[in-house]
Amino acid sequence: MPMMTGREYIESLRATKPEVYFLGQRIKHIVDEPMFQPHLHGAAMTYELAHHPEYEQIMTATSHLTGEKINRFTHVHHGIDDLVKKVRMMRLLGQKTGTCFQRCVGLDGLNAIYVTTYDIDQKYGTDYHERFKRYLLEVQKNDWMPAGAMTDARGDRSLRPSKQKHPDVYLHIKERLKDGVIVSGTKAHITGAINSHEIITMPTRTMTEEDRDYSVSFAIPADAKGVMFVFSRQTNDTRRLDGVLDAGNPKYGIVGGEAVIIFQNVFVPWERVFMAGEYDFTTELVETFAGYHRSNYGGCKVGLADVVIGGSSWIAEAHGIGKASHIVDKLTEMIAMAETCWSCTLACSYEGYRTPSGAYHINPLLANVTKLNITRMVYEWMRVGQDIAGGKIITLPSEKDLNNPASGKVLEECFSGKDGVPPRDIIKMLRLIENMSVGAGLPEAMHGAGSPAAQKIMIERRSGIEKKIELAETIAGIRKDRDFETIVGKDEKTHWDEVRKKIEERRAQIH
Ligand code: SF4
Ligand code: FE
Repeated sequence: MPMMTGREYIESLRATKPEVYFLGQRIKHIVDEPMFQPHLHGAAMTYELAHHPEYEQIMTATSHLTGEKINRFTHVHHGIDDLVKKVRMMRLLGQKTGTCFQRCVGLDGLNAIYVTTYDIDQKYGTDYHERFKRYLLEVQKNDWMPAGAMTDARGDRSLRPSKQKHPDVYLHIKERLKDGVIVSGTKAHITGAINSHEIITMPTRTMTEEDRDYSVSFAIPADAKGVMFVFSRQTNDTRRLDGVLDAGNPKYGIVGGEAVIIFQNVFVPWERVFMAGEYDFTTELVETFAGYHRSNYGGCKVGLADVVIGGSSWIAEAHGIGKASHIVDKLTEMIAMAETCWSCTLACSYEGYRTPSGAYHINPLLANVTKLNITRMVYEWMRVGQDIAGGKIITLPSEKDLNNPASGKVLEECFSGKDGVPPRDIIKMLRLIENMSVGAGLPEAMHGAGSPAAQKIMIERRSGIEKKIELAETIAGIRKDRDFETIVGKDEKTHWDEVRKKIEERRAQIH
């Protein structure tokens, strides 16, 4: 099957019948539900741009399994070039949608499972990797969007998964059968879940032997028997039903559209199980996934920054203060912050490496630094955007009041700016900045791909602090076991010995 277009992707979802609830109601079909249109359109962009010749290099890849052209969102990275193109793709899509386009979690899940199943097989002689390759082939052939489901509900976080009062706060194997496993449990905050064709699951944390049944990874169709979705609420989410002027980003919405996924006695055939009890590989799977996903944030969120920076500049111009020095200074601050995060994500891609499976992984230390910067800088550049936009972004009247003959005319006059700029355009732009800087996108930048504490743990683990201590001790003269030569190398030492000798000679001449 060739790569789908955006429209074909949306239509393809008609074939799936997931059990979805929102505001206490069963949703008849997600494709026809007005509340879900922005999420569908955001994800559809990942399909649509693959058909644009100018984006072909970034949006498509060559499958290492078939040699065929595929959408990059179904590709397993096989070189530094792939890693770099992936983050370029993220920034591009952020620029085109101004929101989360959701398909990256599945992409990172595919790559992380590919890497880890290879390593499990090396140790245990299992055949997870070959199974997974067969599944990947299906994903590529059908151009599927799988939702990556990692985070469990987690209950009492001081207790291990197997010690929880409610066993279903973590997804786990309940029964092992001849032809598959029965699983139950809950995954929370899953991006793009309701508009994905498939769900691929991964454990949410490092497991121990007692959590063996919680060490599970598999793939199932989104409408598999026993799977239920409850769609989350978001700040201002029903605004999208109130009219284009009120929505801010009417076509693509606020953020990815997260859902709780509840698994109740779901059967998964062995062919689609990629980890079943190998608790000693849960750290690798979690960290590999987290590394990939954290590196993305320097791409997608910087794409959003590009939109907000453009919108802030536009609004300052429309208000007649575009050339004011404090505005230029603020815009420059925003740009510098965004490009700092972009530099981070490029660095962790260029510093990537080949794993034993042949797939490439990013530099995990730099990926975690990227994401930690995002948890701070997104708030900061959005704060500056709000500053430039002014108080109007939280006090504007509704579209209905603008259309009301009693109040509309005077409101338009009040909210006009420079001569020639339609007041309704000013309102649209302010609503966009409101949507992006006040809405759910901010906590998403904080907690998506893991909270700051998780990044700090990884940074601390990989920082090589012992080496840094050693360096300081040596220079301070505390370490007696290392001399100058071991620090700078033999050639350097010879060079400096000569320099010192010359200095001594010169001193002798002076005295
Ligand atoms: Fe992709 Fe960014 Fe959304 Fe994560 S937050 S799914 S990386 S667009
Ligand atoms: Fe996210």
